[in-house]
Amino acid sequence: MATATEPIEQIKSRIEEIDPASAREEVERGDALLIDVREPHEWDESHIEGAKLLPQGSVAERIEEVAPDRARRLVLHCRVGNRSARVADALKSELGYENVASVTGGIEAWREAGLGVIEAEGLSREQRMRYSRHTLLPEVGVEGQLKLLDAKVLLVGAGGLGAPSAFYLAAAGVGTLGIVDDDLVDESNLQRQVIHNAQRVGMPKTESARLSIEALNPDVEVVEHRTRLDAGNVLEIIRDYDIIVDGADNFPTRYLLNDASVRLRKPVVSASILAFDGQVSTFVPFEGPCYRCLYPVPPPPEMAPSCGAAGVLGVMAGVMGLLQANEVIKLAAGIGEPLIGRLLLYDSLGTRFTELRVNRDPDCPICGDHAPEIPESEIGKFPDYEAFCAGTPVAR
Ligand SMILES: [Zn+2]
Repeated sequence: MATATEPIEQIKSRIEEIDPASAREEVERGDALLIDVREPHEWDESHIEGAKLLPQGSVAERIEEVAPDRARRLVLHCRVGNRSARVADALKSELGYENVASVTGGIEAWREAGLGVIEAEGLSREQRMRYSRHTLLPEVGVEGQLKLLDAKVLLVGAGGLGAPSAFYLAAAGVGTLGIVDDDLVDESNLQRQVIHNAQRVGMPKTESARLSIEALNPDVEVVEHRTRLDAGNVLEIIRDYDIIVDGADNFPTRYLLNDASVRLRKPVVSASILAFDGQVSTFVPFEGPCYRCLYPVPPPPEMAPSCGAAGVLGVMAGVMGLLQANEVIKLAAGIGEPLIGRLLLYDSLGTRFTELRVNRDPDCPICGDHAPEIPESEIGKFPDYEAFCAGTPVAR
């Protein structure tokens, strides 16, 4: 009897293996029953016509219902032929099925041999290969990958946070990535902004990011917004996107983006970094607090150094940017538990994560119960955030 640790070669030496072409002949002649022992989400992705789905974990319980006659010829397959070998072994040695074979190389070899596989709709052959490590996850599957390909995500800033975030979102197959940045690639960026490189110093960051993304994943459409977000353009820019990644390097932009995204009810995944510390949270308007519930007023300018002036550990920027990308993936695919109402703090020197609960502020001027209704005519009007930022903060 096989144990969980027994080498697969040893198990395979005890059972009959059959190549895909011979297996198909037997099945087509009606001599054999073809059983797919993979999981339902793998079946959804692709399966062989005429096969019967019987996931490995339910074989012992359901095999009698599928094949009441123990002398019946059974041909088992999985993805590459290992799980089906184990099941074939168990059927023979433990359940008394005499005539069992496992398809060498599984459905992958079946497909390679050109024997015909029913593929999930919506993904091309290249996409099925590229995203197979996503679609193998039951929580994502083909359906989740299609949602990612459909998603439109805007990155505010292609810097320390936006660069790693954009790169991984592109790899993950987020179909549309908008990037807002009016900066040029500078040598001092390269210590952390991994989407840029030494040959692109002096190039607009949006263009450099687009070139890297296009080289990585042709599925992704990059929309360059070579500008700074301001009160006059913010609504127009964010309107077409589903999710926003806030990697802004200044407070006026963060407040402006918050206020505009609450008005348009767009989720914002916000992170900030300084020296060895980072923080990240997900703001979904009216489901949890907004940025202003958390920080009612910006800090005075002397307390808010920008990354240009202050130091930041490059790797730490990557960690925080990828936590943002992870939040985006979850929101877009509709899986997991987003960081709504939670502020995650990361101390990279101590390697410590701390989570703080944050609640909606009922008195928040933007999303609170008494926040003023914005008439249609005023919806695109925002205060002058540059001046507002420089003002004296009010304690609350
Ligand atoms: Zn609020």
